[in-house]
Amino acid sequence: MKAKGSCLCGKIQITIKEIDAHITVCHCQMCQKFHGGPMIALAPCRRDQVVFEDEQMRWYASSAWAQRGFCGQCGSSICYFAKETNHYYFAAGLFPDLSEAKLTEEIFTKDQPSYLHFAEQTIRWPGLAE
Ligand SMILES: [Zn+2]
Ligand SMILES: [Zn+2]
Repeated sequence: MKAKGSCLCGKIQITIKEIDAHITVCHCQMCQKFHGGPMIALAPCRRDQVVFEDEQMRWYASSAWAQRGFCGQCGSSICYFAKETNHYYFAAGLFPDLSEAKLTEEIFTKDQPSYLHFAEQTIRWPGLAE
């Protein structure tokens, strides 16, 4: 599946050449702070699968192993980038047409707020997926 997305103001344009249609929700506290709720993430994609118009992209080093990208103009939360594997995890909400995608997995459910539940039957991991 090919996916095209953008931030709220449109300065950041993202094209993913081929994406796996599985969506993972991350409930960790850093994702909650960065996204204002859980991160609803597309499956990881390699750097060479992504075409970016990203002159407004700003980065925040959220840990020793990852950085998080956001738009310098409109502030949209864009992605998590894992430095060791060179993988992007994009916020699904940036991509308007993900009709083939399915929510299959939730991670860091130990940090899931008590008011929030998804109806899908998912594989649930208290921390990272194993
Ligand atoms: Zn923007
Ligand atoms: Zn997270």
